[in-house]
Amino acid sequence: MIKIENLTKRYGTKYALSGISFTVNKGEIVGFLGPNGAGKSTTMNILTGYLSFTDGRVEVDGLDVLDFPAEAKKSIGYLPEQPPLYPEMTVTEYLNFVYDLKGCTLNKKKHIAEILEVVKLTDVKNRVIANLSKGYKQRVGIGQALVGNPKVIILDEPTVGLDPRQVVEIRNLIRTLGLDHTVILSTHVLQEVQAVCDRIIIINKGKIAADRRTEDIAAAVAGNRRMSVKICGPVKEVLQTLRGLPGILSAESVGNLDADSTTYVVECENGIDVRKPLFAVLARNNWPMLGLEAADANLEDVFLTLTEKTADARTKKKRGKAEK
Ligand code: ADP
Ligand code: MG
Repeated sequence: MIKIENLTKRYGTKYALSGISFTVNKGEIVGFLGPNGAGKSTTMNILTGYLSFTDGRVEVDGLDVLDFPAEAKKSIGYLPEQPPLYPEMTVTEYLNFVYDLKGCTLNKKKHIAEILEVVKLTDVKNRVIANLSKGYKQRVGIGQALVGNPKVIILDEPTVGLDPRQVVEIRNLIRTLGLDHTVILSTHVLQEVQAVCDRIIIINKGKIAADRRTEDIAAAVAGNRRMSVKICGPVKEVLQTLRGLPGILSAESVGNLDADSTTYVVECENGIDVRKPLFAVLARNNWPMLGLEAADANLEDVFLTLTEKTADARTKKKRGKAEK
């Protein structure tokens, strides 16, 4: 459905994208994951025809975007980072306006009523956009992308700035869209892509760091488990004890928020549950444990794990060759 080959974008002498390539198949929900400044919006703006590029090739639904810009644009619905809403319009007025702008030919009334249902805005369809909450405004933005029933929906950081409940609602909506559209969404939140996407493309500094099925990325990250433990006791001795416990790979103190307890981040070997022996050894020393929680893997961990694995594989290959 989408094919990007060797795409390069330069701003002056600075490369925002340095030759990225990937494809998105029909019906997939693909997450474009990367830190701020990675090149996510640049890629999306190029895909949707809003930005020119320096080099490479972009194909949407079999059409080169340079040769068939209007046709390619028609197959894409786009929610940019800053949705182009007109706050003084009502939801219905706005969707009608977008319908005319896109030169749609579907049955207008029926089509807009269907979109209002999908994005769950029927109840507020006559409200002025300015008076809607951020979550509802975002749904109007997604509704706007759905006008014309494009095959591909592209959403740039669709949950940024929403409260946790709104985030869940928008994620559910995206899953629904995935049932009959190809969807690409960008985010800098790992949990977001894990929650909704079939595949994750990780982009960093204008280059693709990984392109894998979501479960493979999850497995790569889940290798070693990290926990955060809050313990009352003498830091030096506690650290020594933690590091001596079978199954614990490393332990670091990360500061004491209260006067008499310290928080430690502990990395455990894959498949070993150290919680019971940890409790036992702390009890024996009379060092109360005030808290224990799993530390979520973050984007930095993913980058580290993935790049370390690639580096590992490379050195192993080299070694293998040398031994032969
Ligand atoms: P992301 O969406 O992943 O946060 P962007 O695609 O917005 O990243 O930006 C990628 C890089 O390109 C960043 O380093 C950014 O500073 C740079 N960049 C984006 N737009 C412009 C512009 N109009 N002029 C110069 N540099 C830009
Ligand atoms: Mg961006």
